[in-house]
Amino acid sequence: MKWALIGASTIAAQYVIRAIRAQSGDEVVWLISGDAGRAAAYAAEHGIVNHGTDLDAALSDPAVDAVYISTTNEKHFPQAMAAIAAGKHVLCEKPLAMTVDEAARMVAAAEAAGLVFATNHHLRCSGSHRAVRDLIAGGRIGRVLSMRLFHAVHLPPHLQGWRINDAAAGGGVIPDITVHDADVARFILGEEPETVVAQMAASGMGQGVEDSAMSVWSMPSGAMVMSHESFTHPFAGSGFEVHGTEGSIFAQGVMTQNPVGEVELVSAAGREAIPFPTHDLYTQGLADFGAAVRGQGRPAADGRDGVRSLAVAFAVRAAAQSGTRQIVNYGESA
Ligand code: NDP
Repeated sequence: MKWALIGASTIAAQYVIRAIRAQSGDEVVWLISGDAGRAAAYAAEHGIVNHGTDLDAALSDPAVDAVYISTTNEKHFPQAMAAIAAGKHVLCEKPLAMTVDEAARMVAAAEAAGLVFATNHHLRCSGSHRAVRDLIAGGRIGRVLSMRLFHAVHLPPHLQGWRINDAAAGGGVIPDITVHDADVARFILGEEPETVVAQMAASGMGQGVEDSAMSVWSMPSGAMVMSHESFTHPFAGSGFEVHGTEGSIFAQGVMTQNPVGEVELVSAAGREAIPFPTHDLYTQGLADFGAAVRGQGRPAADGRDGVRSLAVAFAVRAAAQSGTRQIVNYGESA
């Protein structure tokens, strides 16, 4: 498959270009940026032949099969709609869009055109998360009572740009990290949050946007989910716990971009370390995407997953803003 990258981004440079090139036969053939000089420099650094600021030039190239969109969040919707109109498969970064309605329109357009549309929720590609999901699905902890997600990190200096000060670009910890946690809970528990209560704060980094959030979600099964996200916590670590009637799972250090961390099952039988595969998360996501394009499966997180996780995140923000419990509005994607 031949890819056009839309966005001269950090995430593409650090993870996704390598993950594309790890697929047999996949190539990156275009880089589109909003700035010609940055496009040229980025393309040179990463060995990408075609580059520029003209999105239509990349989209009208018949050699391009798929696009990866990793611009700032307000650009995802128009760029995805243009790519879909041009008949390209789309891997789009989270959050899919600035509103649930826009995200749903992107996904509906791709479905109507018969194109693969995926959301880059990388965490569900990790061996640790897949191992936990399998434990729960296999009944190892009985009926799930609750889940606690710990995702309070310290945003590194090179990412302290639009995320902490630009609401118009989709800044804030809720569209950045809560959206991932929503997808993790949906993936691990296999059900959709129904209502949320929440609070949010600017605790030292956020300027005009929240840098911290805590929320509690109710699930249709009756399980409760507690979620904590932040940009300002240098030493908190990350992970999640799932507690059931027959056991508890502790997944520590697993809310990351790398295949690290530990998973432990605790039950009446004692403590058991759970092994899991340590493949690269993004390479797995690209492999799942390629299989879907070949008609051999589905993306790790498809477009509807992206819409639903976004709906949960925006319900958290609405709950924090209003101080009232919110029913998650999945729109027509539910
Ligand atoms: P960056 O800030 O690195 O890149 C976003 C945009 O900012 C780029 O498209 C680029 O615009 C512009 N830009 C980048 N570097 C510079 C610079 N030095 N000077 C001026 N402009 C610059 O963002 P991220 O890579 O962190 O995030 C991009 C998207 O990916 C977001 O939607 C984010 O939510 C998502 N993301 C997802 C992750 C995941 O694991 N799924 C992890 C990290 C991010 P242009 O293209 O116009 O050159």
